[in-house]
Amino acid sequence: MSAPSSAPSEPDCIFCKIAAGQIPVRKIYEDDEIIAFHDIAPKAPIHFMIVPKAHIPSTAQLTSEHTALMGRIMTLAPRLAQEQGCPPYPNGGWRIVINTGAHGGQEVQHLHVHVLGGPRPWQWADGPTRAATH
Ligand code: AMP
Ligand code: ZN
Repeated sequence: MSAPSSAPSEPDCIFCKIAAGQIPVRKIYEDDEIIAFHDIAPKAPIHFMIVPKAHIPSTAQLTSEHTALMGRIMTLAPRLAQEQGCPPYPNGGWRIVINTGAHGGQEVQHLHVHVLGGPRPWQWADGPTRAATH
């Protein structure tokens, strides 16, 4: 199921615009509540994001109202990771990351779940030029 294009819930939010179909992305999944797309600046051979369409700024704003939504996102992550080519657990696997706030390294203030995978090394640490080994 896919929601039609509509006005973003927060006009200045890039992920609201993506959810509303106003900015093109390499989309890999969409339903009424969730969109998933490849990161524009991948930090690993496979790097996509799962994003609730509703404008939730970060994990700091999660309440019990979001339990089902976040549960759906967390169960979607392994399914999409394998569909995108991540070899299965335990010898393959993937990393799931939700940056929150300045200390958490969050740059886009609309909650998003990173999924990274594929062979190491990755560029996921404090900057794009530093290869992460852990
Ligand atoms: P974070 O640092 O956790 O807020 O992550 C934000 C991520 O959004 C970064 O990895 C960016 O590369 C990614 N990003 C920003 N703009 C876009 C876009 N238009 N399409 C896809 N990914 C994007
Ligand atoms: Zn938003």
